[in-house]
Amino acid sequence: MINPWSSSDFFDYERLKKEFGIEEMNYNFDNFLFRRHLILGQRSIDYIDYALKNSLKFNVMTGLMPSGEMHLGNKSAIDQVIFFQKLGGRVSIAVADLESYSTRGISLEKARNVAIEKYILNYIAMGLEPCEIYFQSKNSDVQFLAYMLGNRTNMNELRSLYGFTDTHDLLHINSPLIQAADVLHTQMKKYGGPAPTIVPVGFDQDPHIRLMRDLSKRMRIFNIQYDRDLIVSVRGKDDPKEFIDLAYDYLSKTYTNVKKDYEYRVVRCEGVSEGDLVKIDLDLANIESKYNDFTFVPPSATYQKLMKGLKGGKMSSSVPDSLISLNDDPKEAKRKIMSGMTGGRDTEEEQRRLGGEPEKCPIFDLYNYEIEDDKYVKEVYEDCKNGRRMCGFCKREIAEKMSSWLSELSKKREEAREKLSLYIHE
Ligand code: SF4
Repeated sequence: MINPWSSSDFFDYERLKKEFGIEEMNYNFDNFLFRRHLILGQRSIDYIDYALKNSLKFNVMTGLMPSGEMHLGNKSAIDQVIFFQKLGGRVSIAVADLESYSTRGISLEKARNVAIEKYILNYIAMGLEPCEIYFQSKNSDVQFLAYMLGNRTNMNELRSLYGFTDTHDLLHINSPLIQAADVLHTQMKKYGGPAPTIVPVGFDQDPHIRLMRDLSKRMRIFNIQYDRDLIVSVRGKDDPKEFIDLAYDYLSKTYTNVKKDYEYRVVRCEGVSEGDLVKIDLDLANIESKYNDFTFVPPSATYQKLMKGLKGGKMSSSVPDSLISLNDDPKEAKRKIMSGMTGGRDTEEEQRRLGGEPEKCPIFDLYNYEIEDDKYVKEVYEDCKNGRRMCGFCKREIAEKMSSWLSELSKKREEAREKLSLYIHE
């Protein structure tokens, strides 16, 4: 069971990928997080690839939990958001104030303050361009959609995904529906209609991704199945004829062997290659959206590897010395780095003879996640492995780099305050 609210340590990523059908990250986006395999898995990334190759609109969605600190461990989701925004994605960011109220008892007022001061100002300072940032508590479209999605799931499903028991309160049980609505509402007519939507997440968020993808399909009239032949079925209509004809007419334009069956509410099509499925799904979604405001294509997701905390384990708000917060004073950040754990050996002599273990080293993670220069990071890795690099030097070097980055960020944060109204929609 993965619990999105309390997963506390590293996962066996390969086992999770196998168990839950998360696919390999086999698309080479031109970004160091992807090049260095810090993004380890994906679902339906082919929708984003298709949108990019065909210059189609696509959405980028993420949320922030307004509690604790924004730290380097949760920064890479925003690095990805900014990267996909530069590629043309339309960005939406949900402040999960309803979720932080229901799962952590944080008042809406406090959540607003934390969201702006600790997160949103940093996002803008990091280079996020104007986009839609909203508070769940103030977005009636999200609330309405969450209500409607509630009709497409039940307690059994939520129990098996999240481990809910009879003692969980209803607000908590409802929060996955709000999350699903956060992501899916960006495809409602008012927001531009169905479109590929990328959601960068950690592996612990996978239950949310599975639920929202399933819900997106259950809200559709057209459902696509593929098993050598393509089968489009029509769901939820008393009289499916009109929709069967629409699917039939669309497929007949490209394929010759198309058959419709009113009794079984399906259109069958032979000769469709698997590579055409994304296009067919998007085209059928566009046709359907004229009749159904809840026409969604399943959201895509990227799964990132957790960054190591400076005290071992994962970087987490519950261990303040394990993390570098984006709001840390540069001197404080230096102190934490200098007292952090390393993958070094017990003595200098051993380090020179055996080399260090950068794979286990939280200090190396700072290079790996924060320094864009591939050549330099590779050099650090190899010098460490070959015993040419000592931990003291390494710590001083990265501490210097991180503290000057933090002081630059703090200046930009002050400039960002002036621009908040270009981002926050309420
Ligand atoms: S030399 Fe640097 S990368 Fe290698 S173990 Fe020491 S601190 Fe980590």
